[in-house]
Formats: sequence, C-alpha cells, structure tokens
Amino acid sequence: MMKKLRLILGDQLNEQHSWYSTIDSDVTYLIMELRQETSYVNHHIQKIMAFFEAMGRFAEKLKSDGHHVIHLKIDDANNSGTLEDNLSYFIELLASEQFEYQLPDEYRLDQQLKGFCQSLQIQSGEFDSEHFITSRTELGEIFKGKKQFLMESFYRIQRKKTGILMVGDKPLGKQWNFDHENRAKFDKKIKLPPESAIKNDLSDVFKRIQKANIESIGHVIPEKFIWPVDRKQALIVLSEFIDFRLPFFGTYQDSMSNTDDFLFHSKISFALNIKLLNPLEVLREVEKAYFENPEIIGLNQAEGFIRQILGWREYMRGIYWLKMPEYAGLNFFEHQRKLPKWFWTGETKMNCLSHSIKASLNNSYAHHIQRLMVTGNFALLAGIDPDEVDKWYLGIYIDAIEWVEITNTRGMSQFADGGIVGTKPYVSSAAYIDKMGDYCSKCSYDKKEKLTDNACPFNTLYWHFYNRNRSKLARNPRIGMMYSTWDRMDEDKKAAIIEKADSFLNSLSH
Ligand SMILES: Cc1cc2nc3c(=O)[nH]c(=O)nc-3n(C[C@H](O)[C@H](O)[C@H](O)COP(=O)(O)OP(=O)(O)OC[C@H]3O[C@@H](n4cnc5c(N)ncnc54)[C@H](O)[C@@H]3O)c2cc1C
Ligand code: SF4
Repeated sequence: MMKKLRLILGDQLNEQHSWYSTIDSDVTYLIMELRQETSYVNHHIQKIMAFFEAMGRFAEKLKSDGHHVIHLKIDDANNSGTLEDNLSYFIELLASEQFEYQLPDEYRLDQQLKGFCQSLQIQSGEFDSEHFITSRTELGEIFKGKKQFLMESFYRIQRKKTGILMVGDKPLGKQWNFDHENRAKFDKKIKLPPESAIKNDLSDVFKRIQKANIESIGHVIPEKFIWPVDRKQALIVLSEFIDFRLPFFGTYQDSMSNTDDFLFHSKISFALNIKLLNPLEVLREVEKAYFENPEIIGLNQAEGFIRQILGWREYMRGIYWLKMPEYAGLNFFEHQRKLPKWFWTGETKMNCLSHSIKASLNNSYAHHIQRLMVTGNFALLAGIDPDEVDKWYLGIYIDAIEWVEITNTRGMSQFADGGIVGTKPYVSSAAYIDKMGDYCSKCSYDKKEKLTDNACPFNTLYWHFYNRNRSKLARNPRIGMMYSTWDRMDEDKKAAIIEKADSFLNSLSH
C-alpha cells in the first residue's frame, strides 16, 4: 500500500466520515493549529479556544480508535504557521506517496489546497466532507437561468427530497411555512429553559493561546466554558434543545430580551459548522420529537427550526459557491463608513446595541434577530462599509466561518449583494425593535421620537437610508410604499430628519 497523508481542517471534525471506517497503518492524519487561521481576522477568544480544544479532542478520539494522527500545536517548533509549508514538511518527513483532503467549506482554503496540489510531485485526491444535504453546485442547478434565488423554493425542494415533515409530496399540516405564527414578543411569564450542563474547564488551552501571543477580542471565563467541544457534548446540547427549547422555538424565534442572551435558540451552530453534528441527524431528531409529542412541540415550532437548517443553512452555502469570489467584493450601496469604536466595547447609550454587542463579547454569540435587526440593521442604516461589517461578524461569533458568515452579513443583513439573498433590505426604525423585545423600555433614548434631543437614532437613520438610496430602491415593488409615506411628509420635517441623522452619523467617527 502507498503511504498516505490526509489533512483534517479545524472545521472537519466529523467522526462519522467514511475515512475513519477502516484503520490503515499506511495512513497518517494531520490536524494543525495554524497562525494563518488565527490571524486572517481578529477572532473572539472563545472561538479560538473552542476550535483548538475541539481539534485536540478529535485527534485524541482518532488515536484511541487506532488511527495514526499528528496533532500539530501552534507553538510546536516545526509548525511554520502556514498550510502549504507544513504540508510540504510532513509529506517529506513521512515520505508520503499520496496526499488527500476533504473539500473545504471556504473558498480561500479551497484555492490554497488546489494550488498546493498542482505544485505536488505526488498523487493527490479530494473527498466530499460528507456533511451537507446538498452539494456545492445544487443550488446553481436548481436556479439555472433564473434571476431570483428564492430561499422558499429551494427549501420546498429540499423538503420533498428528504421527505422531512412531508405526507407524500404534500407538506405536513398542509402548509410549507408557519412563519406568521412565529412572531411573538418575549413574555416574561414564560419560564426560561434551565442552564446547560456543559461547563468545560479550558484553562490549559487558554494559557497556550496567551503564551503564543495570539491576538483576540472578547471575554471568557476559561474554567466555565459553555460551548460543546466534542461530539458527546454536542449531542447533549442538541437534546437539551429538544427537551427545553424546541417547544417554544418558533413562537419566540424573533424575540429579544434584556434578561436572557439565548432565549429558546438551540446554540448548535458551532457544533454543526465544525461537523460534530450532522444536519440531517439534527433534522431527524427534531422531526421524531415532534411526532412523539405533537401536543408539546407544535408543528410551527418544529417546522420553524427545520427551515433554518434544511432551508437557510443549505441555501446560504449554495449561494456562496455559486457567487464566490465576486460576492466578497459586492457593495451595492457603496457604503464607506468605518464601524464605530463602540462595536468592540458595547459602550453606547443605545440599549439594544449595547446589550447585543456586550452579549456578543461575553458569549461569542448573538441570536439571529440581534445579528439581523440590531447590529446589522444599525450598520446598514449608518452606511458602514460591508468589508468592515464582515470582519466584525467573522471575528466575533463562535460559529463564524466565511461561507455562512458572508452570505448572511453581506447578503441578508447588508443587502450589499443588491438582492441575491433577500428581496429587500432588512431595516427598521425603533418600532420593530420595540415590538419584538424590551430593550426600548430600558433605553436613554425615546423610541417614539424623531427630532427631540433624546429621540431614538434609528428613527431618523431609517429615513436617511431610504432618502439617500432612492435611485437604487424606489423601483423595488416591496419598497414603493415607503417612498409614498416619505413624500407625503412636510418638507421642513424631512429636512430636519435628514439634518438630525447627518449630525448623528458625523458623531460616529469621533
Ligand atoms: C448578520 C448575520 C451574520 C450571521 N453569521 C453567521 C455565521 O457566521 N455562522 C452561522 O452559523 N450563522 C450565522 N448567522 C445565522 C444565524 O444567526 C446563526 O446561525 C444562529 O444565530 C446560530 O445560533 P443557534 O445555533 O442558536 O441558532 P438557532 O436559532 O437555534 O437556529 C438553528 C440553526 O439553524 C441554522 N441557521 C439559522 N439561521 C440561519 C441562517 N440565516 N443562515 C444559515 N444557517 C442558519 C444554524 O445552523 C443554527 O444553528 C448569521 C446571521 C446574520 C443575520
Ligand atoms: S429606543 Fe432606539 S436605541 Fe433605544 S433600545 Fe429602542 S431602538 Fe434601540
């Protein structure tokens, strides 16, 4: 047999991959902590810790199963810090005759590995990561020749393909989508789920990261690390979700609260994205829980959750592979402003932003509506450069890997793709933020005012956004109404709104 080197990337920790079904003494698995990965953006400390710890545990698991594994640590003397140099070093050291890797999820790494393989004198091969429900190209094939890429159409095709929540070729409950039932404001009378059982002591990996002088952002209590770092823990988080959060997931999925950072969200994105969990296994477990307990877990809760993974997650990946690398440079509104400094501290009087940013710094996590309708909404209204916005999201969130971060940030949230992912920009004044949560009740600003000293900045930025982007948006049939409302406003009032928003925007750079 030929001596083989197989690369495992940090987000390819899939124990169930067919690579591991046989033990072969000619195969060496290589898993590496790389400076190129810790420094392409300034990451949250919890994200670096979670990746390093999960990679270490995965390497140990493969070793204990009998595989030959090299786990290269960040400060090992023979670690050059880059993918290609380390691979060349180990290929030579082990006299490997073949090199193999699993398809990376990121365009950047895909290019790097393709280039590396072309330069090799030995044979190389790529394998599917055996994780996703759809292939890289499936979305492109579904929408071939179409101008619009509707998530809902893609999602229905996936429901039919997998048979999840289907009766024959009809959706269970005679509806594909129960979104209209999923818009409740969080009610303090609803009992919050118990704390998760996951509490890791990651002091060792924390010390290693400090010693290696890796730059990071955010906070951590290393002895009480809340994220799952191996498959066993990921399965615990999934079952905690099904038992305590799923019965309320759909109803409160768009809610926001001053008192709780996670509400009824599953917290499985990190485990999914590094492949500790398989998306289809998660969907089957949720579907099974619904069938076993339909009185406790309503169809709207199960469908609402399944849509996020079978619909949005697969859809975003399809868009990424269809549109990269151009996607990373799109800036439809030509926004140029820098992110205000308080995005790294949360020190602003705007309570919704302060709360969402501080929660992100504390947990390396914010739920979807905080990301979309608080920080994202603000960045879009304020005209922040999407490169700046992307870097912030890519660094701060534990689940941020480019394929799913950039499509959500540049696409869904910033509309910088001009409408590939969304049909209109997700923007709102204070009214929506107040409707979905209790931030406004604890804010220094007045949610109802536009022009008083303590008026909520969202209320003028909202109109400033529509006014300055009229040539780009007025023809969008989903937006026309906004311009009729604006046009009916008194000229003096319009001028005062624009002036107030301008003065707020100018204050952001100080
Ligand atoms: C601006 C912005 C940036 C985002 N960046 C990321 C990111 O870097 N990584 C990431 O995994 N998700 C990202 N999302 C999507 C979503 O916010 C997170 O997946 C979710 O908050 C993770 O928490 P959870 O596991 O508790 O999710 P839940 O609310 O419990 O949802 C369950 C699962 O559905 C999937 N999901 C839900 N919404 C989306 C979506 N829009 N796109 C793809 N998958 C989705 C995730 O895998 C998630 O774990 C982003 C959303 C926005 C608006
Ligand atoms: S009043 Fe405005 S700034 Fe304050 S929490 Fe509400 S929306 Fe946010």
